[in-house]
Amino acid sequence: MTARGQPRQGGTINSCDLMHEDGVWHLWLTLDCPVIQRRHGAASCAFDWGSETVLTLAVKTADADADETVANPRWFQTARDRLGDLARSVNRKTRGSNRRRKATKTLAREKRRVANRRKDWQHKTLAAVIARFGVIAAETLSIQTLTRSAAGTVEEPGSNVKQKSGLNREILDTAPAQFYSMVRHKAADAGSLFLEAPTRALKPSQRCPCCWSVGKKALGERTHTCSGCGHTAPRDFTSARVVLRWAHDTLTSTGQDLSEAA
Ligand SMILES: [Zn+2]
Repeated sequence: MTARGQPRQGGTINSCDLMHEDGVWHLWLTLDCPVIQRRHGAASCAFDWGSETVLTLAVKTADADADETVANPRWFQTARDRLGDLARSVNRKTRGSNRRRKATKTLAREKRRVANRRKDWQHKTLAAVIARFGVIAAETLSIQTLTRSAAGTVEEPGSNVKQKSGLNREILDTAPAQFYSMVRHKAADAGSLFLEAPTRALKPSQRCPCCWSVGKKALGERTHTCSGCGHTAPRDFTSARVVLRWAHDTLTSTGQDLSEAA
């Protein structure tokens, strides 16, 4: 039997479980670790997660603040076209016919393939993001976050917008819980801190990251313009900035100094 992987941090083994699942054996070792080393320095980020731009990042390093986005992966367009074609092909065929059954099977297989690519892509993308930051923050996964994502922010004009935004979700983010659990695990493994901001109390999409005042925005309003201080910025970046500032305030108020994490 061969074992793969290696612990990211040393420790004393305190329990061991052997599991058999779907023909594969898993060996789980639980280690008692000394204090987890935060390896990724004092840089921090907050992300906003959506179906138009997958990740919008507000980044803070020792030198500067920056905004970044993680674009849709390259396979995304192909997957969207193909899923659209296959769905139409099912719809063209007579209900109950063999041809329709066959087309439905093909569509289901393609959906599984896309789900696997998404998972793989999320793993890689998150690993790359988390490796850069000692602190990562995001709005906690709530009904509000989900419905906002489901309401869509697709800006492509013209026909099929609704259909396309549905497909976007299907391809990139139908598994929000899976995505968040991935962030939690990867951050813990990397010794980075993952902080989840309370959406209802913080109101990141309505709050101004500069003066902290709250103003309502319509769903379609893509720009934040503060009536209090005049600050203007794209909406997604604004909410990520609010979450980032909340994370820093939270750390400061609990006496955790970010610079010590370096
Ligand atoms: Zn303001």
